[in-house]
Amino acid sequence: MKQYRIHKDDVVMVLAGKDKGKVGKILRIIRKNDRVVVERVNMGVRHVKPNPRLSQPGGRVEKEMPLHVSNLALVCPACTKPTRIGFRYLEEAGTDGKTVRKRVRFCKKCKEILAGGGKKQ
Ligand SMILES: [Zn+2]
Repeated sequence: MKQYRIHKDDVVMVLAGKDKGKVGKILRIIRKNDRVVVERVNMGVRHVKPNPRLSQPGGRVEKEMPLHVSNLALVCPACTKPTRIGFRYLEEAGTDGKTVRKRVRFCKKCKEILAGGGKKQ
């Protein structure tokens, strides 16, 4: 399974494109084409047909468009700078006295461990 350095709900900065420099929270990751939807970033207009069953009016709807994962940098919550991420393993005491190796992400700038990197999505 593909592992991304960024995860849902991370705050990222856009590195390329028309919204370069913008910062937003990740709403969705589209694994099949390595794209990420970031809140209020890369807004596009989508033309929607009216849907009477959902009593939805037609028209132009503003919507976030996916960005490629390589055009995004994680903003570290500790040093609040766009940063690169490293992985590190922590040993933790688990159940039955066993040690559990847990994968965590850390900021390469301030070395702070970032939450949310250890689990699969
Ligand atoms: Zn940092």
